[in-house]
Amino acid sequence: MVRLAFFDMDGTLCAPRFYVNGKTLHGMSDQEWLTYCEKNGEDGYRFCKPVPMVTEYAQGLKDRGAKLYVLSTSWTEWEDAAKRKFIAQNYPGLFEEVRTVRGDAEKLPMIRETAEKEGVRLDECELVEDTYSTVLAAIVAGIRGTHVSHIYCNLG
Ligand SMILES: [Mg+2]
Repeated sequence: MVRLAFFDMDGTLCAPRFYVNGKTLHGMSDQEWLTYCEKNGEDGYRFCKPVPMVTEYAQGLKDRGAKLYVLSTSWTEWEDAAKRKFIAQNYPGLFEEVRTVRGDAEKLPMIRETAEKEGVRLDECELVEDTYSTVLAAIVAGIRGTHVSHIYCNLG
């Protein structure tokens, strides 16, 4: 049974979509991203879209008793604020909390720490992610790692 589930945001809960200088972008360079976040503040994700299949999957886990967290790598407080606003608007009431880390390598330590605090075993934790190397690292660590492309297989 999954008791704690952690969902990545960019590319998992959120289809990236940004408008810059009249153009629609689905991504940008690291430096452009820092500038974009600083300029747009908490509205940085206003053109991004939620992902229905991931929503359905998350709701199913919650219905079966799991606590859900957003676990996202974010570089700045502006990006943190934008992510929190996107989740509040698009997934109201679904997640316990939005937790941000400053690098992907911090995701597994954050899962371990949360599991320990909640008294949950690692094999009762699930990470849903679109970065395959992070999914594999979770699996190696004894956590259920689900790549977003496998959600369809797990539904129904
Ligand atoms: Mg991602």
